[in-house]
Amino acid sequence: DCPGLRSILQKIDNRGYPAYRDIKGPHNFGDFQLIMDHIQGDPFASPSRIRVRIPDKISGFYESLSNSVERKTAFEDFIARVFEENLKKHSGGRKGSGKSGLIEIEPPGQEILRRSSVVKTSDSIEVRFFIGLPARGRRIDSSAASKMLFEIIPAAVFASLYYENLDEEALRGHIRHYEDSEYIRSKLDDAGLIAFVADGSYLPRTSGIDERPLSFEKAVSFRSPESLRVTFQTPNSGEISGMGIPKGVTLITGGGYHGKSTLLKAIERGIYAHIPGDGREFVITNQDAVKIRSEDGRRIESVDISPFIKNLPFGGSTEHFSTDNASGSTSQAANIIESVEAGAKALLIDEDTSATNFMIRDKRMQELISKENEPITPFIDKVRDLYEKCGISSIIIAGGCGDYIDVADIVVCMKEYSAFDVTERAKKIAAGNQAGRSFAEGGIFDPYISRIPDKKSINPAKGKRPVKISVKEAGKIEFGYERIDMTAIEQVSGRSQLRAIGYAINYSLKYMDGMRDLSEIAGLVEDDIRDFGIDIISPGIRGDLESFRKEELCAAMDRLRTLGII
Ligand code: ADP
Ligand code: MG
Repeated sequence: DCPGLRSILQKIDNRGYPAYRDIKGPHNFGDFQLIMDHIQGDPFASPSRIRVRIPDKISGFYESLSNSVERKTAFEDFIARVFEENLKKHSGGRKGSGKSGLIEIEPPGQEILRRSSVVKTSDSIEVRFFIGLPARGRRIDSSAASKMLFEIIPAAVFASLYYENLDEEALRGHIRHYEDSEYIRSKLDDAGLIAFVADGSYLPRTSGIDERPLSFEKAVSFRSPESLRVTFQTPNSGEISGMGIPKGVTLITGGGYHGKSTLLKAIERGIYAHIPGDGREFVITNQDAVKIRSEDGRRIESVDISPFIKNLPFGGSTEHFSTDNASGSTSQAANIIESVEAGAKALLIDEDTSATNFMIRDKRMQELISKENEPITPFIDKVRDLYEKCGISSIIIAGGCGDYIDVADIVVCMKEYSAFDVTERAKKIAAGNQAGRSFAEGGIFDPYISRIPDKKSINPAKGKRPVKISVKEAGKIEFGYERIDMTAIEQVSGRSQLRAIGYAINYSLKYMDGMRDLSEIAGLVEDDIRDFGIDIISPGIRGDLESFRKEELCAAMDRLRTLGII
């Protein structure tokens, strides 16, 4: 209990809503501290931000639950989920005007990731969440507020933040699982792999907009072809076997609706660890694998797309290519160049979301339209160079074009949701059945591209507020007066990650002087988050940020329509 807070609430009962400001700041609840960081201006505004902090000597959380980066990440992730569940269980529901009665923690998705909602320090744990302070009309409802602050929150704290009340097996299992999944990730490179898909994985999702698993009865579990099978000896779960996709060029083929895109999507998401029960627990991908797709309509600012596209009609230069309205092929070319600039080690490409003329030009088209009149050097003529000269692998879905067999090291065929290694057969067919196309020479691919952003071109201010960043609509970051469209960046985990990326752009301004280029700046932001925690990027303490990769941060800066390059 907290008599001080009770008496303030009594005093402000029935007064105008702004009097809630009186409860801003820390309050001592005995076992724990409750801190009101931000009080909403009215019942309809964004909810108030609140924290609870409890020392380890009271919670009973002991050192080995969080004494490595992996354990701390998994531990915090677990607590966020338990807290979410307990808030739902104890919440009295929404009553009164506006957001009255709302109580929620930023919901974690299927990924195990560092977030700002739960922060374990050396001697305490802090949980951050949101409440809608209750009102009748625009008048303070102190009795409803007291119920939230003195009953619901303490009940959720008691159930979630005391070690003895937690499901110990589930907590330890969560940590062990995350350790194993990061262990495999750390071994991929030495094993010569870009991705690993464990036997027994369930890859399909509930729907195109829901990352939760399709019910296991309806799904066919994954089984690796013997020729591609690899086994990892994990620290906690023993041996795990599955399909290893080696570095180089891998072609995924197969009939329509046989599970090609589902496999690639799982691999895309394999850059993140997933919670137990997800079905993709041990689908593990190189952390610098980037999904590439076409994205017509996007803006491009001073990108050298000349390895792919040259000699545009009427003499447009493509070494510093800019446009406010890219075509399918130019956008896909820019997406590759920018990803490589940001540090991509593997490109993941699905025919479903590619520009056909960017991917391939067959013999007949080569004859009909001579090279001088075709600005595009298709990806098929660059993909080997990318690997052999720059060390960048590709995993490509092509169900419709056999020409890719010539450039692939491995051909995987999906048949009724199962994977088969058809490399040998495919190579035989290709040998007896020449594609007849001639190899198109494009420009040299330079993996060390460098673009220096103009600090003045990035403005997070809106009206009187020096920094205004939010995510209102899925896939879009509101940044000052701008809106950054990230809907084509398919590896974004969700809203909290986008919000963090928005704040990170603002934070990165401090590094935008001198001659630093975009990827260097993104790397410095990444280092700071690793060293100081994700709080460092936001001006105030907030519980709704999720960690992200430098690749997605660069992608957001590249999609800011005001971005200038020096
Ligand atoms: P493709 O890209 O080969 O055309 P998709 O990957 O889009 O095929 O899959 C087609 C459908 O089959 C999707 O609805 C998907 O959810 C479902 N599906 C994919 N893999 C499995 C699986 N292992 N078990 C059950 N359903 C699956
Ligand atoms: Mg498909």
